[in-house]
Amino acid sequence: MSLRDSPDQNKLWHIGPCIITALILIKSTVCTPVSTDWRVETPEAEGFLEKYGYLHQDNHIHNAAEVKTAVREFQWLSHLPVTGQLDGATLKQMGTPRCGVKDEGSHQVWAQRVYAVFTGKMASNGSQTRRKRYAQLGEKWYKRHLTYRIVNWPRHLAPGPVRLAVRAAFQLWSNVSGLAFQEVPEGPSDIRLAFYEGEHNDGASNAFDGPGGALAHAFFPCRGEAHFDMAERWTLYGHKGHNLFMVTAHEIGHTLGLEHSPVRHSLMSPYYRKLGRTLVLSWDDIAAVQQLYDQNHTVLVFRGSVYWMVSAQGNVSAPLPLQQRWRHLPLAIEAAAFSPLDSKWYFFKGKRIWRYSGSALDPGFPKRSSQAGLPCHPDCAFYYAPLGHMVLFKGPRYSVLNLHTLRSEPYYPRRLADWTGVPQGTNGALTRPDGRLYLFREQQYWRFDPVKVRMTREGQWAQDLDWIGCRNRTHQGNDIL
Ligand SMILES: [Zn+2]
Ligand SMILES: [Zn+2]
Repeated sequence: MSLRDSPDQNKLWHIGPCIITALILIKSTVCTPVSTDWRVETPEAEGFLEKYGYLHQDNHIHNAAEVKTAVREFQWLSHLPVTGQLDGATLKQMGTPRCGVKDEGSHQVWAQRVYAVFTGKMASNGSQTRRKRYAQLGEKWYKRHLTYRIVNWPRHLAPGPVRLAVRAAFQLWSNVSGLAFQEVPEGPSDIRLAFYEGEHNDGASNAFDGPGGALAHAFFPCRGEAHFDMAERWTLYGHKGHNLFMVTAHEIGHTLGLEHSPVRHSLMSPYYRKLGRTLVLSWDDIAAVQQLYDQNHTVLVFRGSVYWMVSAQGNVSAPLPLQQRWRHLPLAIEAAAFSPLDSKWYFFKGKRIWRYSGSALDPGFPKRSSQAGLPCHPDCAFYYAPLGHMVLFKGPRYSVLNLHTLRSEPYYPRRLADWTGVPQGTNGALTRPDGRLYLFREQQYWRFDPVKVRMTREGQWAQDLDWIGCRNRTHQGNDIL
């Protein structure tokens, strides 16, 4: 039996990768030698730096120090050695196909996001300091249900497949944010997608530039516009041209209020990314949208063949049959966990594993636990962000399941003693929005702090944890776990 969070509340699970990325970026900033004989090499480069928000546009006059700072910032966001020099690699990077939205403010917003992931709260002046030039009333939507319309169509692609690709792109975001999107064929809509060529009444700096360069751009809420360069060779399946699904997914991120991300391979990186085998949304994209659209923190409590939904206010639903939501599950399960990495549910019972996308059992499941190198009858299971994998406790040991390969990681199982202070035989686990892990056994709970890497509190969950929904109720013994 297990106790799990809903998908909605796992926004702070990505502490591990954050630390790693931060260290790499700091290293490249500090350790790269800075050249002293710097000079402006190409006026085009300054034009680029103006267009993308690294340099102000007043009079087009910049002193050497301003340009150097701008180049350094551009190199930082582009994962180039931070020299401040317009070297060959930097000029080449400026010619890479990318999104036309300015990078201005991305560094700062990202720093705030990392701060929030570490501390569980936003920087106090966060919303005021965002986006100088793009400052508009409302930088997020204040409703959860949004409509969109495809205003016109790209050349050489049939409307049917384009419509499906756009729907799939919106679905990426609705899967992780609790936002819902609906296409409307005509009339007013919150978000509009349109194809334009050259100048299209967005100002000279937003004019499209033909094939390559800026592929598309979009506006932050609540303008709700995403524009695509009609002159690009758009594709959905082919290798030549630019993939419309990937670019649309990126631009939708802007229409929801997301800035560019410096995390390599994230969808919100400013550079065009091909559709590949890796997941489209990275941990940073998920953290960003979940920080904007904070969720209701519904907790799912499992017991045998039923589950309860507990709202953030502690309201408890009636017991709901597991098999009604997840058909094909056995009558009673032993462990359940939601993974924000692939937005899937995992259930464990006896010698088998079930995996669901929403309520649909994934093909090839249930699988045998032994096939994945996992123990039978796990005590509990949970997704653990610092490792980026699923963790299963079983008696005095724990295993780590890689969700990409569906195989146990090498050198596991290891001894439970790695989890300082955590007892054997816990039968439930969940992660709270602050990133702390709660483990349960009978009436007791233990709180594990992933930053301190040890247990920091224990007690009686029914009395101490009001978000479980048992406070002020008749005590019902070990009814839930
Ligand atoms: Zn962009
Ligand atoms: Zn435009």
